[in-house]
Amino acid sequence: MRKKIIAGNWKMNLLKQEAIQLVKELDVAHFGDDSKQMFLFPSSLFLDSICSELSSYSKLIIGAQNFYPGEFGAFTGENSIAQLKDIGVKAVLIGHSERREVFHESNEYIKTKVDAALEHALIPLFCCGESLEIREKNKQNEFVKNQLEESLLHLNATQISTVVIAYEPIWAIGTGKTASSDQAEEMHQFIRTCIAEKFGTPIAENLTILYGGSCKPDNAAELFGRNNIDGGLIGGASLKATDFLAIAKEL
Ligand code: PEP
Repeated sequence: MRKKIIAGNWKMNLLKQEAIQLVKELDVAHFGDDSKQMFLFPSSLFLDSICSELSSYSKLIIGAQNFYPGEFGAFTGENSIAQLKDIGVKAVLIGHSERREVFHESNEYIKTKVDAALEHALIPLFCCGESLEIREKNKQNEFVKNQLEESLLHLNATQISTVVIAYEPIWAIGTGKTASSDQAEEMHQFIRTCIAEKFGTPIAENLTILYGGSCKPDNAAELFGRNNIDGGLIGGASLKATDFLAIAKEL
């Protein structure tokens, strides 16, 4: 059975008290049934306290937005994967378009992050997706396939089964422009086919693939209603508990 997931990427937002208040309002103790999970990706500054407070909720996974794929060493300013694991982090966001674009993370570097996460038994939430320029040339499938091939498809069957994929067309992130449910479904189906070609249909069918990009309470039902869309990675709308919970209700 594929897991349905709603994930909130808070990015570089909120002050400490606001983050604490948001967690309270999300009322995770009453979230969903066993087929559903909520992932939250707060600022790394709040991870320790949020993990301590919420570690008893099995349907909630706290994740880090970023990390350095090594244990310890001379990497000034970085948080290591071992340190994140030590404070109770269970997942990591990898390959987000903002990290690819603003911080120049390549497919090759992203592959090392995927490997480090799996070595430390953290769930990689792997993001992929094309720019508007690529979409306008109708090259999105080729582009996303290449992202998968260069960062993910080297894994073995057991490893890929622990990965969650998020398709996030860059032109829809934070722009208010959502992919139509047909565009999203088509790409999700294509990603599932790429996984099936390498690992077989049962593994591909069990993989959770999220949609991300201006997902809101008023478009979530249509997106999540499609066969290959198993939930959402939510940016802006995850900062307001009522919006995030309204989206989660459509899972
Ligand atoms: C994101 O950054 O992962 C995202 C989907 O952002 P937004 O929902 O704001 O488009």
